[in-house]
Amino acid sequence: MSNSAENSSKRPLRVAIVGAGPAGVYAADILTKSNEVKDGDFEVSIDLFEAYPAPYGLIRYGVAPDHPRIKGIVNALHKVLDRGDIRFLGNVTYGRDLTLHDFRSFYDAVIFSTGAINDAELDIPGVGLQGSFGGADFVSWYDGHPDVPRDWPLEAKEIAVIGNGNVALDVARMLVKHADELLVTEIPDNVYQALKNSPVTDVHVFGRRGPAQVKFTPLELRELSHARDVDIVLYPEDFEFDEASDEAIRSNNQIRTMVNTLTNWLVEEHAEAEEPSSRRLHLHFLHSPVEIHDDADHPGKVTGIKFERMQLDGTGNVKGTGSSSTTRSRPSTGRSATTARRWTNSNTTPAAA
Ligand SMILES: Cc1cc2nc3c(=O)[nH]c(=O)nc-3n(C[C@H](O)[C@H](O)[C@H](O)COP(=O)(O)OP(=O)(O)OC[C@H]3O[C@@H](n4cnc5c(N)ncnc54)[C@H](O)[C@@H]3O)c2cc1C
Repeated sequence: MSNSAENSSKRPLRVAIVGAGPAGVYAADILTKSNEVKDGDFEVSIDLFEAYPAPYGLIRYGVAPDHPRIKGIVNALHKVLDRGDIRFLGNVTYGRDLTLHDFRSFYDAVIFSTGAINDAELDIPGVGLQGSFGGADFVSWYDGHPDVPRDWPLEAKEIAVIGNGNVALDVARMLVKHADELLVTEIPDNVYQALKNSPVTDVHVFGRRGPAQVKFTPLELRELSHARDVDIVLYPEDFEFDEASDEAIRSNNQIRTMVNTLTNWLVEEHAEAEEPSSRRLHLHFLHSPVEIHDDADHPGKVTGIKFERMQLDGTGNVKGTGSSSTTRSRPSTGRSATTARRWTNSNTTPAAA
């Protein structure tokens, strides 16, 4: 938004930026370094408003603690703010403490860089059951976000993570890694203690489409295999490729790399078995969640998820097959932990595993 500024040539251009994540800080930096400012044509005065007391947005409260290279972006952002030519105003929420009317009165221009803080809705029955959480909340917890309670109920042996993007990989990796591996990071102590005491043995990541349609990036995918004492488990029946997949593999380096990585893991997994690990990370494709459910013994609590089996439609999209499966957590101990999965040719509740 911009407003004509009275006597703008006699005073600095006043700019408000809302949101002090990387977009807001870099926008401020670029403005102060613009040619017009450098040449002395005009001066710019920047107020950077942030809802939280501290800046850096999702770099601070989103990126996982075991990604120090990305977290390190904070150093570059800090240098910009530390110069002293940008005024940082924390604890100010646009829409509550300030309105557009205020900005119109006091500024020549406003930049909104408020990011995307909310989860996409998963509109299926049972999503509100105890034990079902949005990824944004869990991420906020392990990054020590001030608005999220410090305790997290890490009580499950088997956990499903729905989605095939990097946030799903972050969440799955943080859940399945042995907590001691995180001690070299800036993980908050309460998070370390909770992860250390977690009884988890199996984390399952589910995606609607096939291995050539994942939204991971190659580095983040390969990183999964670096976790100590964690086996990656893949399912041959999930490796389906249509014409669009073949074309994507041919023409897109990233997709080719990821499909190769996944296929190699599948082959290695079925080669001579090594000593099994105590934890497993399962990657499932062509699974669309239909319902999260409880059972008579655990009313109101998540005990399993029903999925519809999908198939590729030739364009890289998917359509339902009408077959459904249910994953159920089984009481399990150590290495024998498994998830029961059974395909049925009906859409009704599958038989108990
Ligand atoms: C879980 C997760 C993991 C990620 N991991 C990586 C990774 O490994 N590598 C990578 O490159 N990227 C990663 N990203 C993406 C990266 O964090 C974002 O691309 C980046 O932070 C976006 O910057 P932004 O400034 O647009 O938004 P944000 O970082 O979201 O910053 C927006 C800021 O605006 C503030 N704000 C919002 N509303 C208001 C308001 N009304 N008033 C005042 N202030 C407000 C917020 O508090 C926040 O500080 C990850 C993202 C998530 C969610």
